[in-house]
Amino acid sequence: MMVAELSRVIVPNSGFCRKVEEMSGEKVSACFQCTKCTNGCPVTFAMDIAPHRLMHSIQLGLKGEVLHSDTIWVCASCETCNTRCPNGIDVAHIMDTLRQISQGEGIRASQSNVPIFHSVFLSSVRKHGRVSEMEMALIYYLKSQGLTGLLKQAGMGFGMLIRGKIKLIPTPIRAISQVRAIFRKAEERG
Ligand code: SF4
Ligand code: SF4
Repeated sequence: MMVAELSRVIVPNSGFCRKVEEMSGEKVSACFQCTKCTNGCPVTFAMDIAPHRLMHSIQLGLKGEVLHSDTIWVCASCETCNTRCPNGIDVAHIMDTLRQISQGEGIRASQSNVPIFHSVFLSSVRKHGRVSEMEMALIYYLKSQGLTGLLKQAGMGFGMLIRGKIKLIPTPIRAISQVRAIFRKAEERG
């Protein structure tokens, strides 16, 4: 076995799931891995652990893996997962709780690209009233990893486009003017 493989040991923590449940008020243990949260999440392309797998990792007590994941910082709190969960689990709030625990334990955000991610996400919502996955992925990879990073991901994006998983040109929602008004108000408040 190589040294690199030995250096990453995952230690289950039996109290971790309980702590997350107490802090969030959400029943993580009720998750039965239906994957609906992951299938509706607009930003899984930038996550290292898909939302349903993250829930399973919490259940297993894999504290280190969860708190060091990119996923908890990449989550955009859009709450799509919440509306899809058949168990009524507020996954977005659990992500929020995990960020709190992580910060409380002095763990630094796993990605220096998180601010880029948030700004690209918000600008997509402002423009279309919803996330345009294609546009967002293009701008995010270009800004965070340059042209080389973008070209590396191009194959995956093209495959998703062909399978109809993402649209090339997004359709703005009807209430787009209201969404923009919300952004303007938020900016006025600073
Ligand atoms: S709240 Fe987070 S995990 Fe849930 S769908 Fe939105 S980005 Fe994905
Ligand atoms: S949608 Fe709910 S029950 Fe299904 S995997 Fe996600 S958190 Fe678990």
